Amino acid sequence: MQKAPAVAASGKINLSGLTRDELRDVLLGLGVPEKQARMRVQQLWHWLYNRGATEFDMMTNVSKEMRALLAEHCDIRRPEVSVSLLSEDGTRKWLVRLDDGNEVEAVFIPEDDRGTLCVSSQVGCTLTCKFCHTGTQKLVRNLTAAEIVGQVLIARDALGEWPSPADGRLLSNIVLMGMGEPLYNFDNVKAAMKIVMDPEGISLSKRRITLSTSGVVPMMGRCGEEIGVNLAVSLHAVRNETRDRIMPINNKYPLEELLTACANYHGVSNARRITFEYAMLKGVNDSLDDARELVRLLKKYDIPAKVNLIPFNPWPGTAFECSDWDTIHAFSEYVFNEGISAPIRMPRGRDIMAACGQLKSASEKVRKVDLPKAAPETIPENTPMP
Ligand code: SAH
Ligand code: SF4
Repeated sequence: MQKAPAVAASGKINLSGLTRDELRDVLLGLGVPEKQARMRVQQLWHWLYNRGATEFDMMTNVSKEMRALLAEHCDIRRPEVSVSLLSEDGTRKWLVRLDDGNEVEAVFIPEDDRGTLCVSSQVGCTLTCKFCHTGTQKLVRNLTAAEIVGQVLIARDALGEWPSPADGRLLSNIVLMGMGEPLYNFDNVKAAMKIVMDPEGISLSKRRITLSTSGVVPMMGRCGEEIGVNLAVSLHAVRNETRDRIMPINNKYPLEELLTACANYHGVSNARRITFEYAMLKGVNDSLDDARELVRLLKKYDIPAKVNLIPFNPWPGTAFECSDWDTIHAFSEYVFNEGISAPIRMPRGRDIMAACGQLKSASEKVRKVDLPKAAPETIPENTPMP
């Protein structure tokens, strides 16, 4: 699946976000002898992903000649941050501009015991879930592995988190819950997560990474076996009739197939449950009957599960409404009393349109116009390297 590394208008090869194999190919292409390439890849890897280097001059253990060769033919560029917003609740959103001008969004959510980066896997999304803003975006393409990793690098630059701290990290978790369906971009998502999990680089444990899918059943097995991250499933309805209507992918992979794939997910146990996301949509999926059916299904398929109840986040032009608080509480309580954890996820970053399902950017004419007023980011994007 390997692709040619990105070459900038300057003609230079961007090393940022490349896999070990790709780095090796670049070095061999520059005439570095095979015997040396392995060691050079190790060095580059350390500087790129442990130290967050953006200049070859920083790579003090690499010979001067080698650094000059690299600087002549390569560079280390992050995708550009075109807009950066800070919510009143501390959530940050970056509008990330890719080399072809397309844009995606990444969101950082600080909490007491963790900091979660929500990463996009596609520009837009080919699926058209009716309650999701991203699903209304026309322009779609897969992100490269480098563009996915780029979002992590941008966040760590902004947080000043280089070199990789052993513990107490600000960016401690990643969720593939931004724009796009990650399992429709499997190879690149896999390559990107391998980079992010590599113990000699960014070194985030697979237990701290969660991939969310709308239910691409044929890829779920490979996700568990080949990437090994936690799984979240966008459920949102417990009857095929309703799910067909609000999530068209259900017509292809109905609930029975989806829940069977969840029950068989690699490594699933009581200690490692599947998260089911459930957006509370007024009058659509929020009755106590729905709660009963949800519990029945999870028990029938014997899935170690937790349910995240997400109050529906509105966006301009949506026909849906969020359920009333009493309804959400009653739903949560019912599921909880049946022995399944069902916390209500308080929305974060709504004022900057950063909450679940609100992400929509693309190279859209409406950009800031679309957004409510929010404090501009004050922290410089490219915090100098230590
Ligand atoms: N495409 C993947 C990853 C996106 S994750 C997926 O669908 O799973 C984002 C989560 O937010 C998904 O569970 C999605 O269904 C949910 N979501 C989408 N629109 C929403 C909205 N307006 N309010 C609340 N949650 C929403
Ligand atoms: Fe795509 Fe997920 Fe939104 Fe559905 S909910 S349109 S799969 S991003």
